[in-house]
Amino acid sequence: MPKDGFLTPKAIANRIKAKGLQKLRWYCQMCEKQCRDENGFKCHTMSESHQRQMLLFSQSASKYLDNFSREFLNEFVKLLSRRYNTRRVQANVVYQEYISDRTHLHMNATKWTSLTEFVAHLGREGIATVDETPKGWFIQWIDNSPRALARQAAIQKKERSSVDDEQREKRLIEEQIARAKQQTAEQSTEEQTPTPTELKRDGTDEKIKLNLTLKPAAAEDTAETKSAVPAS
Ligand SMILES: [Zn+2]
Repeated sequence: MPKDGFLTPKAIANRIKAKGLQKLRWYCQMCEKQCRDENGFKCHTMSESHQRQMLLFSQSASKYLDNFSREFLNEFVKLLSRRYNTRRVQANVVYQEYISDRTHLHMNATKWTSLTEFVAHLGREGIATVDETPKGWFIQWIDNSPRALARQAAIQKKERSSVDDEQREKRLIEEQIARAKQQTAEQSTEEQTPTPTELKRDGTDEKIKLNLTLKPAAAEDTAETKSAVPAS
């Protein structure tokens, strides 16, 4: 079967149906043994090999629990990040894919008693953004790798600089508006007081008149001087 077909939700659902989800409950992680049903599981727990394993477990229960929990978490997050990266996805979809691997570490061997509890842990630890909907829990992996953080920082820097650009542009526009207002105010002041302008014009006219009257006078003077020369 091609890999893509193998991972489609339908293919996964079919495999789960074929295998029977109930079986997950009758799996012994310590012995890595799958039992068919409750009765089979009971029989297994009575077996000498299981008792030996349980003795080991009880001697360092927290160590086993921690190791199983860590492995479960690592494998689950590995699947989540590789398959979905930072896309938001239904937690149960990822879980179904996770358990479709025959060799997966079973959740009943971890400190989490339900997927909801595990999802809450992902959210608390900042491993994923989690949110509950009527369709169940959704998870979104948070990429904390140095490369992703650097990329994030670059995006934020760019956003900041574009905000700076916007503010600079806004300031320029405000300055232009202020300048335009000032100019309008100056113009209206000039229009409101037309008298000085008229007075100035009158003054100029008078000067011109004066010049006009003076010039002929000067010409007369010259004429007089000229006429005076032959007279002497
Ligand atoms: Zn066992």
